[in-house]
Amino acid sequence: MKSAIPSRNVLKRMKPYSPGKPIWEVQRELGLDRVVKLASNENPLGPSPKAVEAIRELLSDIHRYPDAQAVDLRATIAAKYELLSEQIIVTNGGDELITLVSEAFIETGDEIIVPGPSFSEYEFGGQLMGAVIRTVSLTEDYQYNVPAILEAVSERTKLLYLCSPNNPTGTILSQSALTEFLNSLPPNVLVILDSAYSHFVTEDDYSDGIEFVKAGYPVIVLQTFSKVYGLAGIRVGFGVASPSIIRAILQVKEPFNVNALAQAAAAAAIVDDDHVRKSSLLVKEERLRLYQGFEELGLSYTSSMSNFILVELYENAEQHYVELMRKGVIVRYGAAWGLPQHVRISIGTPEENNILLQALRMILK
Ligand SMILES: *Cc1c(COP(=O)(O)O)cnc(C)c1O
Repeated sequence: MKSAIPSRNVLKRMKPYSPGKPIWEVQRELGLDRVVKLASNENPLGPSPKAVEAIRELLSDIHRYPDAQAVDLRATIAAKYELLSEQIIVTNGGDELITLVSEAFIETGDEIIVPGPSFSEYEFGGQLMGAVIRTVSLTEDYQYNVPAILEAVSERTKLLYLCSPNNPTGTILSQSALTEFLNSLPPNVLVILDSAYSHFVTEDDYSDGIEFVKAGYPVIVLQTFSKVYGLAGIRVGFGVASPSIIRAILQVKEPFNVNALAQAAAAAAIVDDDHVRKSSLLVKEERLRLYQGFEELGLSYTSSMSNFILVELYENAEQHYVELMRKGVIVRYGAAWGLPQHVRISIGTPEENNILLQALRMILK
């Protein structure tokens, strides 16, 4: 029976998030034993071993509620980045931070600026709160079009998103360009700088944004434990901003948004320098090897500062995406970003990347 109770009108306009297909689903649907998932930018080396140990030690305590203020984790993050605990909010993944910021700051009719193609959650949060979304396209080579973004700013602009490195293109806004940009913005605009992939950047002229928070700019930096730290399955991320911005976001946060195991795991992972170093080194080395593989196959790609690469597969991109899946390699098809001739490929272990290149070789022959 159809419900007679109408849900909010805005829900009709909202596109559901389309995640990368999970390994088990492809195994089941296609009857494959070995499936390689290069679709969600996870850490192919797995979680920080110190985080796994921290979870194990806490298992017999999970009848207790988690710390609503995540005091220990915030102190650990604060020490790591030389911040005050009051400048940090811990959230159920970086995704929750985006929703909370939207809830805390957007009044109906406020404008938000979202460069595109980029991470879909920015629009999601804006639409949920009745914002007017101003999309500003990246340039043809997927750089931020700073003049066009400044042009889109109005008196009603409340939030402005910048993802650097950007998902799905892997391109960054340089530190020098970011500095100039922030100095050009009027004071009514709150910038969310999403640096979820900061650990994979090799360019010197780059900032994860935290220095701008320290310098007093109206900036919220988003970080996550899902990527380099390898904790995507347990859902934890954090935001860094001035204490007054953090206080506003805390007002809309559920008390127990981050579970106890996630808090313990994250506190262990963020000081596991060995795991971070190994993981980012793997990405940096394999990135260059994949470039070479793509070049040998005659494929063009966008140089990436992240743990994924946007690859052009031309008119048959969707078909090739399906063929890759049939061979047990899951990548992300670009149509959701308006890039129907592209796929986004996460960087895996050397063995996984070889499987990918071999599959591409067979498909493109
Ligand atoms: C993965 C990702 C995040 C955060 O993801 P969570 O798993 O929710 O922490 C944020 N921004 C971008 C661009 C991402 O790709």
